[in-house]
Amino acid sequence: MSAETLYIDGRWVPAESGETRTITCPADGSEVGVVAEAGEADTLKAIAAAKQAFESRIWVETPAAERGALVMKVAEAIAERKDEFARAEALDTGKRFVEAQIDMDDIIGCFRHFGKLADADAGRIVDAGDPTVVSKVVHEPVGVCGMITPWNFPLLQAAWKIAPALAAGNSLVLKPAELTPHTAILIMDVLDKLGLPAGVANLVLGAGATAGAPLSSHPDVDLISFTGGLVTGRKIAAAASQTVKKIALELGGKNPNVVFTDADFDAAVDNALNAGFLDSGLVCSAGSRLIVQDTIAEKFVDELVRRAENIRMGGPFDETAETGPLISAEHRDKVTRYVEQGVAEGARLRTGGHWGGEEHKDGCFYAPTVLDQVQRGMSVVVEEGFGPVITVETFSTEEEAIATANDTQYGLAGAVWTSDAGTAHRVSSKLRHGTIWINDYHPYLPQAEWGGFKQSGVGRELGLAGLEEYRETKHIYQNTEPAVSGWFSMPEK
Ligand code: NAD
Repeated sequence: MSAETLYIDGRWVPAESGETRTITCPADGSEVGVVAEAGEADTLKAIAAAKQAFESRIWVETPAAERGALVMKVAEAIAERKDEFARAEALDTGKRFVEAQIDMDDIIGCFRHFGKLADADAGRIVDAGDPTVVSKVVHEPVGVCGMITPWNFPLLQAAWKIAPALAAGNSLVLKPAELTPHTAILIMDVLDKLGLPAGVANLVLGAGATAGAPLSSHPDVDLISFTGGLVTGRKIAAAASQTVKKIALELGGKNPNVVFTDADFDAAVDNALNAGFLDSGLVCSAGSRLIVQDTIAEKFVDELVRRAENIRMGGPFDETAETGPLISAEHRDKVTRYVEQGVAEGARLRTGGHWGGEEHKDGCFYAPTVLDQVQRGMSVVVEEGFGPVITVETFSTEEEAIATANDTQYGLAGAVWTSDAGTAHRVSSKLRHGTIWINDYHPYLPQAEWGGFKQSGVGRELGLAGLEEYRETKHIYQNTEPAVSGWFSMPEK
């Protein structure tokens, strides 16, 4: 029997074709579940349902405070079912259960943030300079929002879109990454049980080119919000341009982690590991480019390598594991080729550069890898590897550090490590990246905007701007004393 895991117009349905996809855990290849594999026809149905729900105005005209209350209830429902959600995420991605639990806390925080914001800003009255005129600027939902998300933080990336979209009164169609569908199914179950009107939130599961592509090209989709790789982002932007829909893109990064000689050495080494190897480096903001001052570079990299060699890989429920697998064998092959290319171009492999070994032969593991003696312009410095790979570059002056850190087509995130407040201030203000950490790596706040400069994306998620993405702004000008203007002459009767 075909799996009824698409959620369209308030009902759980199979794919029209009856096709299914088997999901496996990348830590050991075990079967996690079977889900419907949507095609274009299913996505078109979901878009039609979202449009109909939007045009019915059932959610748009629900008072903003009530919409916010529902978004808050989503947070509470996930909190109650946290381990169920974390388990589903860990099995789909292979990441450690404890990391998935932390992701769920972040998701709960995101829903709470946007739940609180829903009725915070009802617009404003503008002084028209004329007492007979009422001029107001109001916010309205954008309409039907298409959402396409990646596999590294499957529900978190979806939550950054779903929470503000619902708070602002939109209808939506979510197409999560085809490899990691289970928490998307669970969130639709939560919305269904909370009584969200049918058609307001819809879920299609399937491949990008078939189930996802109509969301970026369809004229009835008013906004497409995409998180994923740069190459896919360019395709989505090109398709979206044909119907001039709003676009929000959260793409990749090649993120510099800049360490000055006066930094706290142990903290900087420890966080360089977190920056590059947390979640096996499958983080868009991973600090994959270590840029360290030449006076401490040798000692720093020796210690980094010693610590990297101590990192224990393992599956979601292995309590001794410190990091998990990559998402698939194909992705592991891609990371393998990326490292081999770096070595071929002259990088020195200091540690890693191999798979998980006999102990992990059924999983898609790749050992934490450090490449030093790299130069600006090499492929491993230019391209996002999206794996547990840190490259090491060195600098002697502050200007050189800034120039090196900014020498990338991306601009998502970066860090500076120093004990000097002036250095921290100067460098952080000159780095052209959307988030800068000073003496830390990775923390983000739902209250603060997230997004990229340059080719790391368009727009911002989270913060206040993350809600604005899902709102149109309308100016309503009312003349309370209409009169003949006399601009054009009146013809004789
Ligand atoms: P991807 O671009 O391959 O896929 C992302 C999503 O796009 C998936 O759902 C996929 O099915 C879909 N897709 C693929 N082709 C499509 C098409 N032609 N039309 C419509 N949809 C299509 O990315 P990925 O490999 O899943 O994720 C990794 C990438 O995501 C990395 O580059 C990473 O940096 C980025 N990322 C960015 C952020 C951020 O906040 N900036 C967060 C997480 C991940």
